[in-house]
Formats: sequence, C-alpha cells, structure tokens
Amino acid sequence: MPSKSTKKTPKVGNLEWAQPMGHDGWMEGLWRAAKADRLPHALMVQGPAGIGKFMAAKWVAAGLLCDSGPGAPCMQCGACRRLRAKTHPDLLVVDAKASGMDALTVAFFAERKEARTSGFQGMSVGEFLSLRSAEGGYRVVLVREAERMNLNAQNAFLKTLEEPAPGTVLIMETCMPARLLETIQSRVIMVRAGAPDANIAKTILHAHGVESDDIDGLTRMAMGSPGRALELAQRSMPAMRDLLVRWAAGELESVATRAAVMELSGKFPGKTPAAEARERAKSFLDLGLEVWRDAGRLDAGIARELLPHGECLDPFVAYSDTDRTRALQVWMQVRQDVNLNLGAETLLDRALLGSAPETKRVQR
Ligand SMILES: [Zn+2]
Repeated sequence: MPSKSTKKTPKVGNLEWAQPMGHDGWMEGLWRAAKADRLPHALMVQGPAGIGKFMAAKWVAAGLLCDSGPGAPCMQCGACRRLRAKTHPDLLVVDAKASGMDALTVAFFAERKEARTSGFQGMSVGEFLSLRSAEGGYRVVLVREAERMNLNAQNAFLKTLEEPAPGTVLIMETCMPARLLETIQSRVIMVRAGAPDANIAKTILHAHGVESDDIDGLTRMAMGSPGRALELAQRSMPAMRDLLVRWAAGELESVATRAAVMELSGKFPGKTPAAEARERAKSFLDLGLEVWRDAGRLDAGIARELLPHGECLDPFVAYSDTDRTRALQVWMQVRQDVNLNLGAETLLDRALLGSAPETKRVQR
C-alpha cells in the first residue's frame, strides 16, 4: 500500500466548465425568468465559501448566452465554444485572483476613458459596457468574490447598478454580502446558494481525483463545502491529521512529527520556498487549533457526530482540562507568531514540544 504522502495532489479548477452540482433550483429559476423576460438586471449570489457559487453563476451566464438559451447551456454551439475558449465578447469575468491581485480596485470598474490611464491590463467593466452586444443577446458581467471590492470600486460599480443598460446582467458572487455597501445590497436581487447535499459533495470530490478513502473525512472537516474540502485535500489534510493524532497519542515524538509534516506532499501557496513552508506550518497549526477546540467541545458534552474532527479526538480528550487549555494557548501563540517570519520548523517545534503528551505526563 502506498504511503499517504505519495498521493497525487488533486487539482482544483480542472473542471472549469463542468456542470455545477447542487444548485439546479436557483439556476433554473433564473433561466425561467430570462425566458419570460423578467430577469433582474443585477443579482447577488451569496452563500458559504467553497460551495461552487462562482461556478454556478458562470453556468447561469453561459445559459443566458448559449444559442439555445436561456436554459442549461449546451456547451456545443458556437456561443458555448467561444465561452469555453474565453473569447465570447459578451461575457466579462471580473476576478481578482485570476488577475494576480488580492483586492478588486476601481481600475476593474473604471469608465472607458479612465481605464486607459489606470495601467490596468484587462478590460474594465466601464469599457465592456460601452460596447454593444456582439451577438445580439445578453451581455453579462460576473464579479467573482465581490467582497474583495474596495470602497472606490464599490462606488464605481454602484453607478453602473443605478443606470442599467438594456440587455445587461450584472452578477456578483460573494460569501460576505455584508462587506458590500448597503446601497449596493439594496439594488440587487439576492440569490441564496446553499451547500450541496453530502452525496453531491462527495461526487464532486471524486470527480476532482480525491482518493475515495479520504472523501468522507474531508467532507466532514470542510462541513460539507466541496471547495473547502478540495483545498484541504490539496494541503494533504487527512495525512496531516493522522500525524497530529499519532503525536497526541504518544506514538510519534514531536521532532519526528515536525519532520513528517514538512515532508508531506501538498500544495501550499507562497512566493518563496520559505513562504510555502510557513504556509504549510500555518495549515498544521490551524488544524491543531480546530482539533484542540473540538476536544474541548466533546468534553463539554457536544455530540461527536457534530464535530468536524469528531472521529479522532480520543488522544486529545485524554489530556486534563488544564493541560488542554495550556496546549490551546501554546498553539494560539505560535499561530500568531507565523506573521513574525520565523522558520516553519521553529514554529512547529514550539507548538509540538510545548504541548506534547510527554509534558503532560511529567506534570502528573
Ligand atoms: Zn450552447
């Protein structure tokens, strides 16, 4: 049997135009409204992070632009082929991450004359909306993670919302609608997207190449959000948790645990190897914090089945209340110190050595 650290890391986003699962109800509702010519000009698709809202919103847009639409896009016709090739002139996706930015600044939304001087490489919303429909149908602006819009960007977008151009549909997608101006919230129709049911979430993980024996645990760790579960899979979270559990049970010494964590395969974003290593340490520390907190909840009488890490808490519950509180404090302190640019190994050693089961036994 291959060791868990040699597992291939699943890829997120390799099913870019795959049919979203678990969102049929509201997607079909929007296409029906479009067929009856009653589609609102501005929508805000909101719901928990990682449930596939953006993919679904993009699918809705495709269904508006498809030659046989409005309805589920065929992915075969000329319009759909252009969508796939990212050359459809009537869809503009505003996406901070894809542009390598953390925030959506006003440059993304600028008027045509300002867009030229802003240094922004892509097409701005203002520029896009100054053009006529190339294919005679809808024009769609899709804003991914709208909570990333800064105040100037929100004010610029507000003007667009106030003066809707005929045939234009503005779709914002967000997990934090409260980050957006009240004036924006009041001008859009809210569409609530919920997490898909557990079986659909599992099918999605399977389609992304997550190994079957990890799927249940990951779905639970991610509280049913398939996007979050995929992110955890990419970070080798099941294997990380195995190491943490073996350490807490006293099977693996602190230094050996740290070394094994550093060797796990996985994708940890960062601009330098040191930054990637710190991101890896951060993932492990976050996991530890969740597990320590879950152990406290279990001890306080919350049912094991309701806890994301319920099935692996025994070695943590074996700590006394005092030891566990102290351990949680150590991990919280180290987690804060991730920002101090310390090396990943140093961080992990401090957390593990400072709360290891052997320290617990010495105290007694
Ligand atoms: Zn089509």
